[in-house]
Amino acid sequence: MSPQLSRRQFLKSSLLATGGLLLPATASKTSAAGEIRKFPLHKKIGEARTVCPYCSVGCGMVIATDEKGHIINCEGDSEHIINRGTLDPKSVAVPQLSNSPLRLKKVQYRAPGSDKWEEKSWDWAVEQIAKRIKDTRDKTFTRTVKVADKDVTVNRTETIAWLGGAANNSEDCYLASKFARSIGLVWLEHQARI
Ligand code: SF4
Repeated sequence: MSPQLSRRQFLKSSLLATGGLLLPATASKTSAAGEIRKFPLHKKIGEARTVCPYCSVGCGMVIATDEKGHIINCEGDSEHIINRGTLDPKSVAVPQLSNSPLRLKKVQYRAPGSDKWEEKSWDWAVEQIAKRIKDTRDKTFTRTVKVADKDVTVNRTETIAWLGGAANNSEDCYLASKFARSIGLVWLEHQARI
């Protein structure tokens, strides 16, 4: 300590110096935080609940999208019965599914024997799927089978199978299995069981 400074003068000058260092830091932190808080207020954010499609656990997610429909945030759905808000690291790749420039947004169809893909409408695709399911079912429907020389009614088709995916929730699966059984399907599976 300089002999010219008393203990009181030294403490006073030290506090002023420290305050001078701290003050700009605190001010810049406040302004940075202010900018972060303002950011979402200038953007239109859409929020939706969905299911992570990567594995058979089927964790619930909440995704946020900007005005172009790009996913800008995804987090665990705290109200979802499976994960209660938690997610594993794989889930951070979910925005790529929507935002990737390689994502196909239109139906691509390759006719039997063809080496070319054709672009088709969704209406065309749905109609084709319905028509092919009906044609196959009608051609292969079995009303009865012989069991111990007796005809037993089965009303089934064994030429079509139904496979559910991890992004189907319990309600989706319930409806899908009701529909499948109603047209005579007996081979029903789900990714979560495979
Ligand atoms: S967050 Fe992880 S555990 Fe949950 S469904 Fe996605 S990949 Fe599976």
